[in-house]
Amino acid sequence: MMRKFIRYYRPHLPLFTLDFGCALITALMDLVFPFVVRLMIDEVIPSRNLNLIFMISGGLLVFFIIRSLLQYIVDYWGHVLGIRMEYHMRKDLFQHLQKLSFNYFDNTRTGHVMSRLVNDLNEISELAHHGPEDLFIALVTLTGSFLIMLSIHWQLTLITFMLIPVVMTFTILKNKRMQEAFRNMRRKLADINAQVEDSISGVRVVKSFTNEAYEEEKFKEGNDGFRLSKEKALKVMAEFFAGVNFFTNAINLLVITFGGLFIYQGTMTMGEMVGFLLYVSMFLQPMRKLTILVENYQKGMAGFHRFVETLELEPDIKDDPDAMEMTEAAGEIEFHDVTFSYNNREHVLNHISFRVSPGETVALVGPSGGGKTTLCHLIPRFYEVETGAITIDQRDIRSYTQASLRRNIGIVQQDVFLFSGTVRENIAYANLNASEDDIIMAARLANAHEFITGLEKGYDTYIGERGVMLSGGQKQRLSIARMFLKNPPILILDEATSALDNETEKLIQQSLAALSKQRTTLVIAHRLATIKNADRIMVLTDEGIVEEGTHETLMKQQGIYARLYEAQFSQIPTVVA
Ligand code: ADP
Ligand code: MG
Repeated sequence: MMRKFIRYYRPHLPLFTLDFGCALITALMDLVFPFVVRLMIDEVIPSRNLNLIFMISGGLLVFFIIRSLLQYIVDYWGHVLGIRMEYHMRKDLFQHLQKLSFNYFDNTRTGHVMSRLVNDLNEISELAHHGPEDLFIALVTLTGSFLIMLSIHWQLTLITFMLIPVVMTFTILKNKRMQEAFRNMRRKLADINAQVEDSISGVRVVKSFTNEAYEEEKFKEGNDGFRLSKEKALKVMAEFFAGVNFFTNAINLLVITFGGLFIYQGTMTMGEMVGFLLYVSMFLQPMRKLTILVENYQKGMAGFHRFVETLELEPDIKDDPDAMEMTEAAGEIEFHDVTFSYNNREHVLNHISFRVSPGETVALVGPSGGGKTTLCHLIPRFYEVETGAITIDQRDIRSYTQASLRRNIGIVQQDVFLFSGTVRENIAYANLNASEDDIIMAARLANAHEFITGLEKGYDTYIGERGVMLSGGQKQRLSIARMFLKNPPILILDEATSALDNETEKLIQQSLAALSKQRTTLVIAHRLATIKNADRIMVLTDEGIVEEGTHETLMKQQGIYARLYEAQFSQIPTVVA
């Protein structure tokens, strides 16, 4: 793991060397000041040589300016190093996430992916640049100040250092409890956030059941939990700082008490005692830094672990090494005894076989949960068949590259996803190089041009978050416009019209009918109009494709289709496309 971590430093080696070198020099420079103070008190001030005093002061001024410049380099370029490493890691992770298959996203919560991309990487980057730097500064300062103290007065050093183990134990223990308390607090805060999100996005449900009081009670619980956990954390933190403060002063007290004695004895000078005091406080700082570093190391490495874990996940579905490009498909689709289940659970599709000829429109009907959407997702290879095979133009879809396969297939779903952006950008998503004329033509064919030009800024209207709200039918027409622009030889319509009112549906039926002309179309239908337009109807149930034929022949059979038709379609007014 460490080696993988270090690999990310490699492109930034010059920056790292600069940062690290400057940090080391500042640490060494800091050791000089108390030494000069001691010299001033013991030698320079008693000599009453004003020139020398000014010279030393002037020298120190230059020294401090250089020190500050180095500090600037450490702070600025050190953090730049961190953010550049973070940038590369984030890029790698995002790139990899794009490669992963549906299966990964089915089983991963968005919140977790987000926290990987943001929090984890932030913690890793903190560790990446503070880690080595702080560790070495601490070691230099600790050994440096300790050795100098020994050389000033070893007896006083030993007396002072009797307290150090106590301080260390206290710091480590309290720090640990503090971290635990803060972790607990963050967890409670996340709970509150989740609760607020739930109540707000579900506000219609809350209000329609008049459950406001219940929601308030639930919220109070979370709010109380957070308050108590924060009070606890604040208590531990106050204890920690009070303790650290006491021990620091106790050590100083030891120094001036015993230092005073040694001065009377004549084994120590005033300057030595003041210098000693400064070195002692210099010694205590990195100790605190080290405890924080241990914590950051744990957090950063845990984050890095998760990062590497995600990065090393292989996509479930990969292109065959000698996969070929699918050029313009004729559009023949055939299922050969296909069986499929999600994550090796119960089979959703069992021994499915059927064939759709180029240009044919086939309607797929069946009970909800029967596997219609699943079947459609197998064609662009969003999921892999378990046994059997799917062929397009008589070749197994696994022998094509996924990208070229998917270029030949267009899917219109019931839930339309629009990105935040303009209307134009959302249509052009199907073909990023489309010209303005192409976009408008596609919108016209989708019966969307009218309503788009009626919007305040036409094609430049911003939609999605903080943009205008579109109705379900308008969104659907944009997604159909996308399909006209994409112009794929194979078209899959998955309940594209089931959430629409009659008037809108009529418009959409028209454009869908135009869209499916001269394309192989598989349509999952809820409405009679769509079904009647199909060349053929297939009925999919748990048992597989149980009935097949035209509306009339299937009605005559008096089988499942006839029953489904009675239950589902007959009450809904027929829309003539
Ligand atoms: P239909 O579109 O005919 O209503 P689906 O293909 O959506 O049916 O679902 C078929 C079955 O597969 C259902 O039992 C459903 O719960 C299950 N299912 C659908 N999608 C997933 C998924 N991503 N992971 C696991 N199970 C799923
Ligand atoms: Mg479905």
